[in-house]
Amino acid sequence: MPKQRDDCLFCSIVRNGAYVHKANGFVAINDINPLAPVHVLVLPERHVDTFREVSEFNAREAKRMLEFVAETAEKVGLTDYRVQVNVGAGAGQTVFHLHWHILGGGPEASVEVPAAVATAEIPDELDR
Ligand code: AMP
Ligand code: ZN
Repeated sequence: MPKQRDDCLFCSIVRNGAYVHKANGFVAINDINPLAPVHVLVLPERHVDTFREVSEFNAREAKRMLEFVAETAEKVGLTDYRVQVNVGAGAGQTVFHLHWHILGGGPEASVEVPAAVATAEIPDELDR
């Protein structure tokens, strides 16, 4: 088992929880207080306090973590969704074990694109 913290809720869920998806050092669980029809959390098995410490993952693990977010969304039936990480108490983080929120399954998944952005010309070199 990777590095864990005895006093961490998500570490105990990693050890005992009911997963939606689990592979290669990452688990996904249903959020206990869903803010969308589908609200899943992705967490590394290894305890890392916040996204600020993302450099604790090596390049392979970091890539794997992003792939696992996309895999999990697909596995729970989402094609369109939002991914959110709250970093620090001031940004709404309440559980200090890094986790990614995946929210979807309803109008919450859509994000209004401001008209000025929607109509802006995309320079040729970026338009690919
Ligand atoms: P954050 O506010 O970004 O730290 O997100 C913490 C999330 O964990 C919230 O959306 C909570 O609803 C969720 N949560 C708290 N306790 C549990 C639990 N025991 N099982 C599943 N999700 C939980
Ligand atoms: Zn933890």
